[in-house]
Amino acid sequence: MSLEKVYNYIDAHEKAFIEDLVRLVKQPSVSAKGEGITECAKLVEGMMREAGLLTKVLSGKKGNPVVYGEVKSKNSSKTLLFYNHYDVQPPEPLEKWKYEPFSGKVVDGKVYGRGVTDNKGNLVSRLKAVQAFLEAVGDMPVNVKFFVDGEEEIGSPNLEPIVKEHKRLLSADAAIWEFGGTDRRGRPQLYLGLKGVLSVELKAKGALKDVHSANAPLIPHPAWRLVWALNTLKDKDEKILIEGFYEKVQPPSKEEVECLKRIPFEEEELKKELSLKQFLKGVSGFEALKALLFQPTCTINGLLSGYTGEGSKTVLPHEAMVKMDFRLVPNQKPDEIFEKLVLHLKKCGFDDLEIIRHGSTEPVKTSISDPFVGLVAKTAEKVYGERAVIYPISAGSGPMHLFRNLLGYPVVSAGCGHPEANTHAPNENLKVEGFIEGTKFIATLLNDFAQ
Ligand SMILES: [Zn+2]
Repeated sequence: MSLEKVYNYIDAHEKAFIEDLVRLVKQPSVSAKGEGITECAKLVEGMMREAGLLTKVLSGKKGNPVVYGEVKSKNSSKTLLFYNHYDVQPPEPLEKWKYEPFSGKVVDGKVYGRGVTDNKGNLVSRLKAVQAFLEAVGDMPVNVKFFVDGEEEIGSPNLEPIVKEHKRLLSADAAIWEFGGTDRRGRPQLYLGLKGVLSVELKAKGALKDVHSANAPLIPHPAWRLVWALNTLKDKDEKILIEGFYEKVQPPSKEEVECLKRIPFEEEELKKELSLKQFLKGVSGFEALKALLFQPTCTINGLLSGYTGEGSKTVLPHEAMVKMDFRLVPNQKPDEIFEKLVLHLKKCGFDDLEIIRHGSTEPVKTSISDPFVGLVAKTAEKVYGERAVIYPISAGSGPMHLFRNLLGYPVVSAGCGHPEANTHAPNENLKVEGFIEGTKFIATLLNDFAQ
């Protein structure tokens, strides 16, 4: 199909596209607080219809609605699915924002607002690529489906039953995941997978109530119990001690190692930003990047017990709790790791602890040798004029496994973000230029995917 017409359409409609993006950013949609969710889902559905898609709302027994959209090609039987999400992170701390978080203010070629990059900009750029084909050419090069999650920022806890129920509706030949962008040198970044995550909470209980610490020789201390239990989980060399924890961990393949070597890792900037002399165990360069992407972790997210206020208080608390997460790598399974954790604590004599399981997602990746990866990389190079930087996996997590493993097609993440986008932080922003180039990239990809 003629990409020239599509590109011209995109250039001619830049202002209108940005106005639509601003409209979406202005609608709060904070899943953590349930703020503006219904309104935002409606707005997304309306914008899909305006772009020329047929829409449907998919709801499960609980949780926020998924907005689904599709448009068929007259000439192709191939289907590309886009996974995006309309929910955003909470905007706090509010005082750190230069402009109101839901203002969608455009300043110096950037749109500011919570969710403008993560993930509303990517969603709108993809919708606009579809609109450009339909308006400028009158047809799509391939069939397109959109799956727009409403709970990504809280771990998509209700997504699995929805995906399972709509397996046929969600069938496709490949999918483009929600995020990505260009690095400081303008090179497009592609991500082929995500780490998994398992969140748990451990609770230790002592006496019925807090008591005077003079009673310490007699009264069991829950905070000490918890500290001793935590001590059995990981040693000072960062090794996780749960039996069988590393059993299924796959080291990077030869091809993945080659990929890692080409990834620019700005470690000095990161150390400076965090005021660190060195990373854990003194790793740097390739070894640091390998650890970041291929190493599973056991992290204390928060610890709570007793008196932590000003001055001192001689008290013996009656309870203690810790929240932790395990980042998992292929082929570790959250269910198995949870079982191993429970067994480990029991074996070490901590069966008095209450173990609460919170959310989890599985680690997942698409192989570098998958033809779809090659296609996306080639298209990215053509559009951006730079060889794509391929991350075999990302250190983050998400529900990608439902699409890659359950529905069974290759998934690559690529988007229109930039390194100073401040996602999840104050002053989140998206460059207008990157947004327009990203829209052209998606249009080109749709065209190339037909071939
Ligand atoms: Zn996010």
